[in-house]
Amino acid sequence: MDGQWVGWREAKVHPLTQTLHYGMGVFEGVRAYNGEQGPAIFRLHCHTKRLLRSAHILNIDVPYTHEELVEIQKEVLLKNKLSNAYIRPMIYLGSETMGLNMVDTNVNVMVAAWEWGSLLGEEALRHGVRIRTSSFARHFSNSAMHKAKANGNYINSMLAAREAKQSGVDEALLLDVNGHVAEGSGENIFIVRDNIVYTPDLSACLDGITRDTVIRFLRSENYEVQEKRITRDEVYIADEAFFTGTAAEITPIVELDRRKIGTGLVGSLTKKVQSAYFDLVYARKVIDENWISVIKPTISISVQ
Ligand code: PMP
Repeated sequence: MDGQWVGWREAKVHPLTQTLHYGMGVFEGVRAYNGEQGPAIFRLHCHTKRLLRSAHILNIDVPYTHEELVEIQKEVLLKNKLSNAYIRPMIYLGSETMGLNMVDTNVNVMVAAWEWGSLLGEEALRHGVRIRTSSFARHFSNSAMHKAKANGNYINSMLAAREAKQSGVDEALLLDVNGHVAEGSGENIFIVRDNIVYTPDLSACLDGITRDTVIRFLRSENYEVQEKRITRDEVYIADEAFFTGTAAEITPIVELDRRKIGTGLVGSLTKKVQSAYFDLVYARKVIDENWISVIKPTISISVQ
């Protein structure tokens, strides 16, 4: 926290912290996997870039550089002796002032890490999830800033995720204000029809890093991937569908609004994408060497 290592139980913020009141803050969700080259963070530089871009969008001046944030995220794993872990960096406003103009308020930075299984569960990875169209529209692009992974944006995601759970399914599918498919509460969506893969274009969703990984993988295997507007009934008639996200990894979708997708079982291309994704995060397969940031303890050698 702000340049100091603080024990889990000692990590505290003041209740007048501005971000707690107004949601003005940005964060990331990053994962490390204990793979072929030892513990490594997947696409750490991309996540860190998105964190700083999110702050830029919200007009928050971050008191750390990209490189410093990269090192802190590696170090938090070493300090906690974690090798398979979820990392949560957050940039948030302090409690020095109350008001909405962000003047004279400190910008704070924290990074935490812990072991956390796949967002929708191990069962979901294997057998897929049942989802519903949310009654909550995804934020209008001129109200909330989509390209920012901003704390406050997640009220909408929480409303949608809870509504889905309370109505007996696993996750929500949010449409944008024009009624086009946007994304899950914390995942991007892909559908497959007649061997072509479709995903909403970036005007409707977060620029997901897993989304990008999947697109890059599919194109490297010569699959046709189209980023376009998608309607909910296109999902009903898809052969396969799946969610992507750092937390949710590759989670198959087997049902939307009580309609089976394809056979109602996990699709074959979905299985292929899921296994390729795990090969990439565990560094068993490489598309881009910069995607793997190995965590090595700093060895200090003292010469006598
Ligand atoms: N959409 C939303 C709303 C999300 O919160 C996330 C998780 N960050 C994603 C998509 C997936 O993004 P990524 O693959 O970068 O984790």
